[in-house]
Amino acid sequence: MSDHIVLTSHARRDKPAEPIHWGAVSAAERGPVIASLTNPAQRNVIGTHSGAYAVYRALAVASGKLQRDHRADLTDTAPAESIGPHPQWSDPDKIVSLDPWGHLVSSAFADRIAAGIDIRPSIAVTRAHINMPELMGAITAGRLKPDGHILHANGDVRVTKAAIDPVWYLPGLARRFDIKESMLRRSLFEQTSGMFPELVTRPDLKVFLPPIGGMTLYFFGDVGQLGKPETKVACRVHDECNGSDVFGSDICTCRPYLAHGIEVCIEMAQQGGVGLVVYNRKEGRALGEVTKFLVYNARKRQVGGDRAETYFARTECVAGVQDMRFQELMPDVFHWLGIKRIDRWASMSNMKHGALTAQGIEVVEQVAIPDALIPADARVEIDAKVAAGYFTSYTPPDAEELALAKGRGLDE
Ligand SMILES: [Zn+2]
Repeated sequence: MSDHIVLTSHARRDKPAEPIHWGAVSAAERGPVIASLTNPAQRNVIGTHSGAYAVYRALAVASGKLQRDHRADLTDTAPAESIGPHPQWSDPDKIVSLDPWGHLVSSAFADRIAAGIDIRPSIAVTRAHINMPELMGAITAGRLKPDGHILHANGDVRVTKAAIDPVWYLPGLARRFDIKESMLRRSLFEQTSGMFPELVTRPDLKVFLPPIGGMTLYFFGDVGQLGKPETKVACRVHDECNGSDVFGSDICTCRPYLAHGIEVCIEMAQQGGVGLVVYNRKEGRALGEVTKFLVYNARKRQVGGDRAETYFARTECVAGVQDMRFQELMPDVFHWLGIKRIDRWASMSNMKHGALTAQGIEVVEQVAIPDALIPADARVEIDAKVAAGYFTSYTPPDAEELALAKGRGLDE
């Protein structure tokens, strides 16, 4: 290996060894995503694998823990369930933020891998058992009934799960947001402080592996039934909220909604359909947890206390926007799974609902969280969201109601 540092700030004359034909009908025609760091001449994308974890890889190499040219041994890593291909994979505008062939790399491109090209999966599919105390609660309350197959009497649930790293097709992404590709590239370049010069020096490279978190899918029932028009699907699309999801913080409804969504998914699987939880790494509406905690303080310290009428305004004061999750890209995963219709949709979000229908995915029934599952301190959040257009089973609060402080103070 060369000791030279390869600069990407000036356009190289060589074209990528193997071009990517995004939206081609087969893996062979589409071509592999090659982000090799050891052989720059083979690269056909901007960025590197593993999202933000690339920085830890750099630490591992710098500290001598990891060989710079280590290549993954992919023996026995193939998906535990087969997914696709589905017709949506060959529409370059349907999937723009993940690689539909990302889990099939070791078989689809076995010849190149054997020839020494560093090609890595961006999707992995495995199986697990999960267990959450809320599910035992649902069994005790009689809402869920163990069947000994999908749901066991001790609350264990059999799932298939998939981890997906983002792979962005820049022309498709630009079209999805109705902006110029050049504007998208420039903004990505500038807002990462010039981290990826090829965004502006290599317009011929159309695919970008962004340094962000991806998503995890949890499937309940037979994954092989997805993509068939007769298969009923229940779904919860959940955006990460570490404080509530993992630690049970009661300022929001995230974990209760996640648990409720899983309940709806288990029911659907028990009825012969498929349940799907999509868990997106978009902490704090993709503003990050530092911003989120700053907003919590601002909400609780403001004159008049924590109340729904100022819920979004406090976020906007700190972050400049209310939300950066960009649900426009969220439907891609449904296209990947061949899903055209969601029969039971466990979400109140009008933004998510709008994004799905804009992509031609039908939502049959929207399932609101039962009132009894909402924690008291989360009333501020729920009232604010309902007033802003979230769907719900109860009457939206009026202005007087929204002005009442309902959240705990910082010292309570
Ligand atoms: Zn939350």
